[in-house]
Amino acid sequence: MPRKILVTSALPYANGSIHLGHLVEYIQTDIWVRYQKMAGHECWYVCADDTHGTPIMLSAEKEGITPEQLIARVHGEHARDFAGFGVAFDNYYSTHSAETRDCANEIYRRLKAAGLIETRTIEQYYDPVKQMFLPDRFIKGECPKCHAKDQYGDNCEACGAAYAPTDLIEPYSAVSGAKPELRASEHYFFKLSDPRCEAFLRQYTSHGNGALQPEAANKMQEWLGAAGENKLTDWDISRDAPYFGFEIPDAPGKYFYVWLDAPIGYMGSFKNLCARRGLDFDEFFQAGSTTELYHFIGKDILYFHALFWPAELAHAGYRTPTQIFAHGFLTVDGAKMSKSRGTFITAESYLNTGLNPEWLRYYYAAKLSATMEDIDLNLEDFVARVNADLVGKYVNIASRAAGFISKRFAGRLTVADADLPAIRAIREAAATVAELYEAREFSKAMREIMALADIANQYVDSVKPWELAKQEGKETELHAACTNALNLFRLLTILLKPVLPAVAARVETFLNIAPLAWADVGQLLAAGHQINAYEHLMTRVDAKLIEKLIEANKASLAPTPESHSPQRHGQQQQAAVAAASPWEPFCAIEEFNRIDLRVARIVKADHVDGADKLIRLTLELGAGEMRNVFAGIKSAYDPAALVGRLTVMVANLAPRKMKFGLSEGMVLAASDVDGQTPGLFLLAPDSGAIPGMRVK
Ligand SMILES: [Zn+2]
Repeated sequence: MPRKILVTSALPYANGSIHLGHLVEYIQTDIWVRYQKMAGHECWYVCADDTHGTPIMLSAEKEGITPEQLIARVHGEHARDFAGFGVAFDNYYSTHSAETRDCANEIYRRLKAAGLIETRTIEQYYDPVKQMFLPDRFIKGECPKCHAKDQYGDNCEACGAAYAPTDLIEPYSAVSGAKPELRASEHYFFKLSDPRCEAFLRQYTSHGNGALQPEAANKMQEWLGAAGENKLTDWDISRDAPYFGFEIPDAPGKYFYVWLDAPIGYMGSFKNLCARRGLDFDEFFQAGSTTELYHFIGKDILYFHALFWPAELAHAGYRTPTQIFAHGFLTVDGAKMSKSRGTFITAESYLNTGLNPEWLRYYYAAKLSATMEDIDLNLEDFVARVNADLVGKYVNIASRAAGFISKRFAGRLTVADADLPAIRAIREAAATVAELYEAREFSKAMREIMALADIANQYVDSVKPWELAKQEGKETELHAACTNALNLFRLLTILLKPVLPAVAARVETFLNIAPLAWADVGQLLAAGHQINAYEHLMTRVDAKLIEKLIEANKASLAPTPESHSPQRHGQQQQAAVAAASPWEPFCAIEEFNRIDLRVARIVKADHVDGADKLIRLTLELGAGEMRNVFAGIKSAYDPAALVGRLTVMVANLAPRKMKFGLSEGMVLAASDVDGQTPGLFLLAPDSGAIPGMRVK
């Protein structure tokens, strides 16, 4: 019986590039969906860009464009990257759509009618300069636990402590630098703590219900608390203007929080697909639907998908997800992806470097299981495994047999031996491989397929077509051996097709056959079937390409999903500049101490007649000590803007007679190699420093 299945991957945020960490999920989902389609089921795969929220609004503002322009550009980039890796959505849409808005409004209206929406006044930090309420990630300050400076409003990256933004010492707005004020505002809440939600979630997330993986179900029981102890808290679903999102229908100036409309974006994307393909949306989303709904997600967003989302759906009268599949994170060479090591690899750079996307699809498949465990991309192992398995074991079978069929038999096959042990082995194992795909045990499936490829190679090695070809009167044996080899190859291609769709398409052209479906393991190629000339199906991975890829990502300045705040982005730019500037050899502390660095106040700054790069600075070093310094900073600073500010100078640099007068020291400024891009930055001490203080 064909099943009706709707599948989603989590929505990527429209504020950064797709990287290899993201691709774990999209490749995992795509393999599963392709398997379902090959198995003859009606399966729809939808996704969308997640486009709302403060980070998008501020990024667009920083670029001087509208949020709509920003999300349109990023949508194009994301769609290009996914297509490049063969991720075949039936619809890749946007949450900023009429369909998503309609669904969000409808869910809100129904939850409100059910008495599950409540308003409450809460106090939040407000940026008086920018005139907006600040999300936690846009408030920084000193960690209340370990006193590390410049930590985010929700947790400390130095000591790992979690806290409320109001706990920060000397908080400031990461948007404007202003000191935030506490202001009251009315917010809308989804009453997750309501006994109806609790009762529903206890059942929905239970091990017996089977909607969650065992480890995810355990986590939910922890979050729910023991029976009789309800640990659920209500969910704040509104944000105040200015906000890029959907205005709440009966609440002017209030917007749905981005996380409310993100999962609703699954519905919006599917609704859009339904209109285009003549599908019945209600058949998939009405309560009691007999269709299946699966969400593939990262383990970090379980709370949203396993608690909020099913509770919303159930109480708004919709069906709930059949199952939620969470996966782990990607590490590269055993460590978190890192920009400085060049292992924060973007999808675009992988493709631009000339690496075959199906190498990565295969490698991920060979690592993925149905658990939430992290997977590691070991780059050395990547090269070795792709070369050994895909080229050495799989493609090799075709390349050893195809030439003889073309040259000696005019491209025509003879009758295949259905009782050949290798052919029987693959056909019998196909059901096991199908079960492994269905259960998302891809690594076990790949091991099984490669064991079958070994059996196929053993057959070819035993009949030795290359020797038969040299012997007189062995035409019949040669024809049979090569025909059997190509049938083995075709059967292996069926099993690998969900993972290697592009290779499979080339195999279909080469073998001159219709697109392979799973049921085709039941047949063999007919005697007399004509194949096309063999063309290279896949090359070996050249280890030099991996080096190139790492280099390309070391130089990458692309903003990432982690760099929502302007400050973090600035740090990354500087890190990249530092990498381009050669390092000096070590110096002894004594050598460094000979340089007398002092805090100085700029009391006067003037243009210098006839000098197009210099500004004349009069610096005060405390106790009436004054210095005259010519600084080459005119390209970056207007003299008038410098007066009064503190900087750092080299106070014991030997005075130098210049054309315009005596220069008695040097001020310190940061710049890249040529001082042009992004420019020059005069150093300044933190507030509180006094002119004359030694810097060491
Ligand atoms: Zn801390």
